[in-house]
Amino acid sequence: MVTSPDSAASTGLLSEVRTLFSRRSRVALALALITSVVLTSWSMGQWFAAQATDTVHRRADVSAALHAASLQSDLEKFRTLPFVLAQDPDVRSALAGVDRAPALNQKLESLASEVRAAVVYLLDANGVTLAASNWREETSFVGQNYGFRPYFRRAMADGYAELYALGTVSGEPGLYLARRVNRPGGGAGVIVVKVVFDAIEAQWANGDESAFVTDERGVVLITSEPEWRFQTLAPIPPEEIPALRESRQYGADATLAPLAPPDEHRFLAISAPVSSGDWRLHLLAPLRPTVSDAKVAGQVIGALATLLLWGAGIALYSLRRRAERERARQEAARRELELRVAERTSALETANTQLLHEMDERRRAESNVHLMQDELVQANKLAVLGQISAGVAHEINQPVTAIRAYVDNAADFIQRGETSEATENLGIVAALTERIGAITNELRSFSRKAASNPQSLRVVDAIDGALLLVSARTRARGVAIERRLEDENIKVVADRMRLEQVIVNLLQNALDALADIAKPRILVQVSVDEGMALLTIADNGPGLSDAVMAALFQPFVTTKDQGLGLGLVISRDICAEFGGVLCAARSELGGAAFVISIPVGS
Ligand code: ADP
Repeated sequence: MVTSPDSAASTGLLSEVRTLFSRRSRVALALALITSVVLTSWSMGQWFAAQATDTVHRRADVSAALHAASLQSDLEKFRTLPFVLAQDPDVRSALAGVDRAPALNQKLESLASEVRAAVVYLLDANGVTLAASNWREETSFVGQNYGFRPYFRRAMADGYAELYALGTVSGEPGLYLARRVNRPGGGAGVIVVKVVFDAIEAQWANGDESAFVTDERGVVLITSEPEWRFQTLAPIPPEEIPALRESRQYGADATLAPLAPPDEHRFLAISAPVSSGDWRLHLLAPLRPTVSDAKVAGQVIGALATLLLWGAGIALYSLRRRAERERARQEAARRELELRVAERTSALETANTQLLHEMDERRRAESNVHLMQDELVQANKLAVLGQISAGVAHEINQPVTAIRAYVDNAADFIQRGETSEATENLGIVAALTERIGAITNELRSFSRKAASNPQSLRVVDAIDGALLLVSARTRARGVAIERRLEDENIKVVADRMRLEQVIVNLLQNALDALADIAKPRILVQVSVDEGMALLTIADNGPGLSDAVMAALFQPFVTTKDQGLGLGLVISRDICAEFGGVLCAARSELGGAAFVISIPVGS
């Protein structure tokens, strides 16, 4: 099925109406629609009809004025004719008894045809026709007596008469214009011009309107509708009718019946006076189809305009409702969003509080870890001290024993008076006490429990301190210490004692590994690579087995009977503290190698 855009639009509107309004509202709406359409259609029809009637009225007024003017001009033209003819010498001669009939006949004939008068004729004082323009015709007036005709009598009496009447011979209606012709010697005649209005009537009949002229009695004389002739506007009193018939003015058969009044729905009747007489021109202008068409057009326009307004109104209402629904939807969405945001905010706040709490916990835990780490570092230090204390004691005992010997010798030298030798011995004693002081100082510093305090220091100083602490062991084991320093002044930022602790740990491990090695060697190497100071402690021990390598740097991994498995773990943590790392490698000496890499300090 093909649907036109119009029907699609109306279907859309109907379904829109169905969704917008309830059933009851729709019924009320339909009633209101029908009522408004009917009312608007009716009033627009009336208004259009009134406008069209006005237009018809104006046109009819103009038309009536034109009709009256053309009739008037004809009448004026003919009225002058009897007057002019009354002055004519031939007419006067004829009335004086001179037989001028043939010439006058011809004159009147040519005059009548020229001015289009029906007949022009001259009557003597008795009413006998002396000459006539129709002298050639069978119905010639010549010789006829018209003394009985009222126009003759009135003209003879008053000098001039006008009468519309039927011709007694021709039976043709016309206007008789009669003028008395005076003669100096007395006596007179009457010159008559009969005018017929066929041409005007034919012209009027061609128009849309019906036009007619009535005389003072309201009898129709000239008319575009021949059947209306001699009917009347208003009934003529019956007692007057016989006299009128007698006068033969309207003919013996004139009905003189009143005209049927015009249907005012179909015709607009107007009238206007004609010239100076009592004649009136009447015009019936048809209201159809102009007014009826306008009325229908008005009704259709009214109905369409109302429907259009309703359509537009419903469309607007629908748009507004949609906009309201959309607004409500957006409002609901906004509220929903706000709710979600509020929920989310509160969840976030809770999470935040929790996070802050957790951060506190973590901070506490971290500080605990730090504390524990410090404790661990200290524990490791004490363990290392335990390991090296015997060696250190030995290291101190040796100079003490030597001091004893030198002091004894010095005493002998003094007794013998060999003071210079004694002085030399005491100098050696002083140097040895300095050595003891250095060892005990180192030991005291190493064992002190202090918080990490990183400072710029020469790597070599830390190495020397550590080597001093393990010197007894290295010497006892006969380990060859090889120092390979790229530069004595390589510096790092670290806590001196902690860095020393790491080095002591690594040296101790190396010494442990070298226990059964025939020619034990330890290489201490310092170099710089890409801003990192690299401190390598390598040995020629058995090296790291794959199993140990896999678990290296894990707490409690040890291969030693008395071992704790914490030395490397703590050492790595200490390096991390300085922004560095500790890792294991294979040594060029054949054993294990451990490399500390710490950023170079200024
Ligand atoms: P501990 O010395 O108490 O065992 P460490 O963490 O210092 O703990 O060392 C862990 C293990 O790593 C040692 O038991 C040892 O097996 C191995 N190791 C460490 N250094 C060396 C080394 N230089 N040569 C061979 N093995 C080593």
